[in-house]
Amino acid sequence: MTSNQEIIKKSESAFIGTYARFPVAMAKGSGCKLHDADGKEYLDFLSGIAVCSLGHCHPKVTEAICDQARTLVHVSNLFHTIPQTELAACLIEHSFADRVFFANSGAEANEAAIKLARKHSSPGRYEIISLEGSFHGRTLATIAATGQPKFQLGFEPMPDGFKSAPFGDITALSAMINESTCAIMVEPLQGESGVRPLGHQYLRAIRNLCDKHDLLLIFDEVQVGMGRTGSLFAYQQFDVTPDIMSLAKALGNGLPLGAILTTKDIAASFTPGTHASTFGGNPVSCAAGLAVMEVMLEQGFMSSVLSRGDYLSKTLKSIAQTYPSLATGSRGAGLIQALVLTENGIKHGAEIVNALFQRGLLANFAGNAVLRFIPPLIVTEAEIDEMRTILDSVLSTFQ
Ligand code: PLP
Repeated sequence: MTSNQEIIKKSESAFIGTYARFPVAMAKGSGCKLHDADGKEYLDFLSGIAVCSLGHCHPKVTEAICDQARTLVHVSNLFHTIPQTELAACLIEHSFADRVFFANSGAEANEAAIKLARKHSSPGRYEIISLEGSFHGRTLATIAATGQPKFQLGFEPMPDGFKSAPFGDITALSAMINESTCAIMVEPLQGESGVRPLGHQYLRAIRNLCDKHDLLLIFDEVQVGMGRTGSLFAYQQFDVTPDIMSLAKALGNGLPLGAILTTKDIAASFTPGTHASTFGGNPVSCAAGLAVMEVMLEQGFMSSVLSRGDYLSKTLKSIAQTYPSLATGSRGAGLIQALVLTENGIKHGAEIVNALFQRGLLANFAGNAVLRFIPPLIVTEAEIDEMRTILDSVLSTFQ
């Protein structure tokens, strides 16, 4: 078998250097465990960045993918297909929405959301207000919507029509609305910038602003949708309904699949030829998505996400109490949880993540502020205890 070192050497001379990867080649996965090319085991509290929410190679998802790959892989959106139609119907049945458009990724889903908001509101209303600290993707429009200038650096000029309001300040957000504004776009809980929940009150106030000014409310649930916060969609957890919602990541449990969901009335603004994707909603990805939905809709699935989330949150709180020089507490919802670091902890954030990796635990340093834990939603309390043991052993060396 090819070793880590052989693969890394080949990989480093082959790729455009956009990624700072861990020095490892992952070879196989099962549940919450990954194995590298040298056979070392890792406990995965990253889930391929909130993607493999049913764990690696979930038997039902694998079976659905294999069956569909033997039946029909691609025909384009010039034709109807069974998996795409069934997945759309299932998403509609379990959400606020009446209509779905499929894409291949989170950024593409957000592009579709942005285009739909503009199309629905035009002429003259095109501006979208997002929040500082948000992350909406890496295409030009989605970096323009992303409220973090570091992602825009070197790619200017940005497409026109995007502004970011200070996080948590409803008065400032309100003051930014003008006659060109068509939508407000937020993540109900900011994932990339450090697991920052907006909370029910803030989200409700944003919804009220949208209603008052006739603006569309877009929820980017690419990271926090599909069960991550303990309900199928995060808006259900925070009890505020958007007009357009984007999904991706866990929707396909690893196969490329994104979507926007919206109402019949708003959807009517997209007519044939206004938006499209060659691969979007391909049969294999949609078969995977249907299998994901079936598992997540099983009785007791979401309540177990909530109880394990609670256990993870308590574990991180107790870790923070043990290491007050490194951490102040925990925050999050369901199974997106963060250990909030002190200034000193932040200074060592990247080193801590590397030390965890060396000891076989995968987590990451998000928003230059927290250690983020986003395990598969099937994680057990025993695996959370295992995570705690590794975290404990690493933090004790950084005190
Ligand atoms: N939106 C959010 C909230 C995300 O977290 C991400 C990715 O991390 C994206 C959009 C972009 O998704 P993708 O990388 O699939 O384009």
